[in-house]
Amino acid sequence: MARRKKIYEGKAKILYEGPEPGTIVQYFKDDATAFNAEKKDVIEGKGVLNNRLSEFFMTGLNGIGVPTHFLKRLNMREQLVRACEIVPLEVIVRNYAAGSMSKRLGIEEGTPLPRPIVEYCYKDDKLGDPLVTEEHIAAFGWASQQDMDDIVALALRVNDYMSGLMFGVGIRLVDFKIEIGRVFEGDFQRLIVADEISPDSMRLWDLETGQKLDKDVFRHDLGNLSDAYTEVARRLGVMPKQATHMAKPKLIN
Ligand code: 5GP
Repeated sequence: MARRKKIYEGKAKILYEGPEPGTIVQYFKDDATAFNAEKKDVIEGKGVLNNRLSEFFMTGLNGIGVPTHFLKRLNMREQLVRACEIVPLEVIVRNYAAGSMSKRLGIEEGTPLPRPIVEYCYKDDKLGDPLVTEEHIAAFGWASQQDMDDIVALALRVNDYMSGLMFGVGIRLVDFKIEIGRVFEGDFQRLIVADEISPDSMRLWDLETGQKLDKDVFRHDLGNLSDAYTEVARRLGVMPKQATHMAKPKLIN
């Protein structure tokens, strides 16, 4: 088979040219990084779990009319996605105070917020993805005001969907990050959810025990990351029921 052309390699994923124009193959690596790649490890099975979980969340979002880049899963570690132009922003939605918001504003972790709060960070590893305002975004031309209105609407729909899904399996969606892509259809531009939606980019706490089931397990050495993600997948029915927290990830189809 001809070698595929690598388009980009990031911390957790590799992008290859897809089989047809306008498509990309997204490969999920087992690499885990935190604190702007100061902490690194390889977590066996993480890529398989995130590929499957991102497929599950994006398929659900597509099903309720929230457009995403996801087309289909190809195998254990790869999915076919629509090529898009990534808006250089991390869009964060918070339901409870945690992480950088708790630090910045001195609000105790776990405090419920009066309403979901949407934040933007400028995607730049060298700068540590700094928080920016709509003024910066408009002034530097990263997105228009109309784009930002659409991005907030998309982000809040993702939040409603993901919060409900997680609540149904006893998990609190504390916060999450998404990335947005632009696709062009004739003269029109559309914004879609891109990148991945996985426990790498969310905070998930067990509703009863408060146990963390997301990348904070890795960030703060709280246990085995693969076990935490397997538990999320098991509760959502993405993994076979008999999978124990010790079992390596297995796919059901
Ligand atoms: P915080 O700003 O509190 O560090 O992060 C808020 C939320 O966005 C968390 O769920 C965190 O996992 C996610 N997040 C923020 N920045 C990044 C990033 O660069 N990569 C990933 N995967 N998630 C991020």
